[in-house]
Amino acid sequence: MGCRIVLLGMPGAGKGTQADQLAEALGIPHIASGDLFREHLHQGTELGRLAQGYMDRGELVPDEVTIGMIAERIARPDCAEGFILDGFPRTVAQAEALGRLLSQNGTRLDMVALIRVREEVALARLAGRWTCRNCGAVYHTLFNPPRQAGVCDACGGELYQRSDETEEAHRRRLKVYQEQTAPLVEYYRRIGLLVEIDGEQSIDDVQADLRATVETACG
Ligand code: ADP
Ligand code: ADP
Ligand code: ZN
Repeated sequence: MGCRIVLLGMPGAGKGTQADQLAEALGIPHIASGDLFREHLHQGTELGRLAQGYMDRGELVPDEVTIGMIAERIARPDCAEGFILDGFPRTVAQAEALGRLLSQNGTRLDMVALIRVREEVALARLAGRWTCRNCGAVYHTLFNPPRQAGVCDACGGELYQRSDETEEAHRRRLKVYQEQTAPLVEYYRRIGLLVEIDGEQSIDDVQADLRATVETACG
């Protein structure tokens, strides 16, 4: 089933967790802009060096750079049948650029799913988040613990807390979300692509709701 999906929601809403499972079920790639930036950082590329300061401060990397990185990624052959974007777009300019990129290829988005949670829920989730250094899978010390502490269930990789996981950076990211990303909710609602999912349910229940909306949107 081909399907071009965007997951929207504040940091900590559960986008990465849900995108991983959905991507596996649909057989399409999960593209997380934050993961792509972290790969660049790790490899020491120029893009990674440019992004680092913004990421550490919890600010957005400039649109031009971010759009270029995503354009290159979704042009790869594994995206021909669809993809799940997680963390992109985050500004109206990014959303407009994405629309133009897709229409140049004669395609368009099928669905934008907003994973709704309250801010206090997002903060509690971010506070306990651990990430796999090897595959990027995320866990939570209380809500979604790995079978063995510090070790990724999926690949055996080492779990770590990201350097931008401080309470101060979390609050800044939530503010940036409200100011720059929340307008995308109306943007996508107006063009008829938005579906809303209750993100405060269990991971499995959120996934079930998402699958049902995908059936409808991408059938
Ligand atoms: P996002 O990509 O939107 O920032 P993540 O998928 O990284 O969010 O999830 C943030 C944290 O919350 C992680 O620690 C994850 O294990 C946990 N989490 C995700 N979904 C749920 C859920 N439905 N209930 C409880 N905890 C969750
Ligand atoms: P979270 O899941 O906590 O929201 P991400 O991994 O999605 O975090 O993003 C980490 C950081 O990477 C952001 O705080 C920002 O600096 C940068 N980033 C990720 N996606 C984008 C984007 N679409 N536009 C600008 N900056 C981005
Ligand atoms: Zn892993």
